[in-house]
Amino acid sequence: MFAPAWTVRRRGPAPEHVETPGRCAVIGAGLAGAAVAASLARRGWHVTVFDAADRPAAGASGLPVGVLAPHVSPDDALLSRLTRAGIRATWLELERLLEEGRDWRAGGVLERRPEGDTRVPAGWSESGPNESWPASAAQLSSAGLPVDAPALWHARAGWVRPSRLIEAWLREPGIEFRGNAPVARLSRSAAGWQLWSAANQLLAEADRVVIAAGYESGSFAPELPLQPVRGQVAWGRMADDLALPATPLNGDGHLIAHVPDDEGALLWLCGATFDRDSTELAPQPNDAQANRERLKRLHPGAAATLAPAFESGKAKTWVGIRCASGDRRPLVGPLNEAGLWACTALGSRGLSFAALCAELLAAQWHGEPLPLPANLSKALGTERTAP
Ligand SMILES: Cc1cc2nc3c(=O)[nH]c(=O)nc-3n(C[C@H](O)[C@H](O)[C@H](O)COP(=O)(O)OP(=O)(O)OC[C@H]3O[C@@H](n4cnc5c(N)ncnc54)[C@H](O)[C@@H]3O)c2cc1C
Repeated sequence: MFAPAWTVRRRGPAPEHVETPGRCAVIGAGLAGAAVAASLARRGWHVTVFDAADRPAAGASGLPVGVLAPHVSPDDALLSRLTRAGIRATWLELERLLEEGRDWRAGGVLERRPEGDTRVPAGWSESGPNESWPASAAQLSSAGLPVDAPALWHARAGWVRPSRLIEAWLREPGIEFRGNAPVARLSRSAAGWQLWSAANQLLAEADRVVIAAGYESGSFAPELPLQPVRGQVAWGRMADDLALPATPLNGDGHLIAHVPDDEGALLWLCGATFDRDSTELAPQPNDAQANRERLKRLHPGAAATLAPAFESGKAKTWVGIRCASGDRRPLVGPLNEAGLWACTALGSRGLSFAALCAELLAAQWHGEPLPLPANLSKALGTERTAP
């Protein structure tokens, strides 16, 4: 609790803090909803997480494995600072809840850059306190890339299986998951909020509601500027002798390999496509081809290694719908003054942003110091979309 002896001058009105944690309903059991549930449950809330699917992580967060790596720009732009803060928040949760090497790997990420552009903020180097710098010849050659390929090395980065993080968050005491429970509408009652099914059954009553329903959040919050962005990836099991880089590669597309699955086999995954305004979940052959082309540019050797998997039809396809805001930043904050909040628009960076956004929301509810400087917190706020 930040309660100094002096009078704190605020730039705007003080947000309404809750004195006593109560009942909260969260709509959506993806990275956003599970992270919010965990942050609130830790502060004493009774949280019920509703999902239309029968299990958690059934939407975009059902991605078999994802890359966790920061955005880096020479002027350390807003998005760069936000992703860095987000990854630190995620990292704490990964270390606290998951098994490294099985559920996630902390081994770093190589990011291929356009020709001539490995610029980082002044003073960033391998020996500095920062966590990204131009990749060394040794790092490039051990990934099977030409030693002069323009690339950055991200040390606080790796791969994560999103469903493992979601399951761990939902296991925290104080959280109940309710699957097969699509919420059709909300209404106000004397006690707070009521959540209704399409058949007009009362699903729950709660003091506060958080909308974390991915691109479907728009049906509860039409005022938010949300856009669905369909994405397709290819993935499969690695045969014993498949020579794929040990380090995830990022850039125009990504490649992750050596990810243990539930049966002890190893997985690879590459992608991803970006198809704005599409919510089509069926795999598209053109997108499979586009992912192969992308992989050829990212790592020609891996593309050759995986060619038989693509050609034999052994490569599997996974499709998800991202939820993006106009400025590529998440939307976290109140939707009205009566306890309806949103935590969504994690875009292509759910792993970087979910934990940070959840902590930001919970800190605001409890009048705690924010997990980010005020200007960065504002850059994530729902208030920024007000006309
Ligand atoms: C192809 C692809 C590749 C990606 N790669 C990466 C990556 O490498 N790294 C990374 O960080 N991110 C990646 N992402 C992005 C990441 O997957 C998303 O940012 C993240 O999963 C979003 O989480 P969410 O909880 O906001 O949404 P979702 O996971 O979509 O969760 C929303 C949930 O709400 C539920 N829901 C919707 N409507 C209702 C309703 N009315 N009632 C009840 N429940 C409802 C849905 O069933 C769903 O489970 C990728 C995304 C795609 C599509």
